Amino acid sequence: MAAYAAQRERMVAEVEAMYAETAAETGLAAMSSAVRAALGKVERHRLVPPDEASRAYGNFPLPIGAGQTISQPYIVALSTDLIEPRAGQVVLEVGTGCGYQAAVLSELVARVYSIELVPELAAGAAERLKRLGYDHVEVRAGDGAKGWPEHGPFDGIIVTAGAPEVPQHLVDQLKPGGRLVIPVNVAMGQELIVVTRREDGKTESRPVLPVAFVPLRH
Ligand code: SAH
Repeated sequence: MAAYAAQRERMVAEVEAMYAETAAETGLAAMSSAVRAALGKVERHRLVPPDEASRAYGNFPLPIGAGQTISQPYIVALSTDLIEPRAGQVVLEVGTGCGYQAAVLSELVARVYSIELVPELAAGAAERLKRLGYDHVEVRAGDGAKGWPEHGPFDGIIVTAGAPEVPQHLVDQLKPGGRLVIPVNVAMGQELIVVTRREDGKTESRPVLPVAFVPLRH
């Protein structure tokens, strides 16, 4: 699918341009080469719903069914860079959606656990990820605000739905030095924040960017 490969390259270039535009806010001057390679590789058009395949590489949110939308590729890339993924790590995602963010993560770390509240979305993502060979990703249906303690603690956690506050269960499932990226509600909307669990167990958080995710539900 040469056409899709070309679209994917264009998407990566657009994401790179957005990193440059937002560098002052995010503190990240450029997309890491590892995340760039993952974005250039994952076949987003095979993960989004089939009738959205032709729009899969646009740098805008897309509907995925069940009233949910997925973030633009820039936000996926940024969230991924913010947890500072490294080979060998184990990460958790809350809000599997179509499975795209999980696929990007699985290009970078050893294991990805992902929880999706809507059972049909969880089943669909699990099936597609398996079919595409992402066998280091495990998906389950459930409330991700409680985390997945059986597989924790995690080196990184990415939440892809907006929360009223940072769920303590997720902070508790971070390894020392681990990072949690989560959109939280603020007066004017939502802000993407990074919570770092320091080696001494205390946490620090840093606001990164105003964002607009679908809400985290129960
Ligand atoms: N990361 C996804 C996009 C997710 S959109 C992707 O790459 O495709 C946000 C998702 O979070 C939606 O699918 C929504 O159903 C899910 N969600 C909302 N509340 C949740 C919760 N408490 N636990 C797990 N998933 C939740």
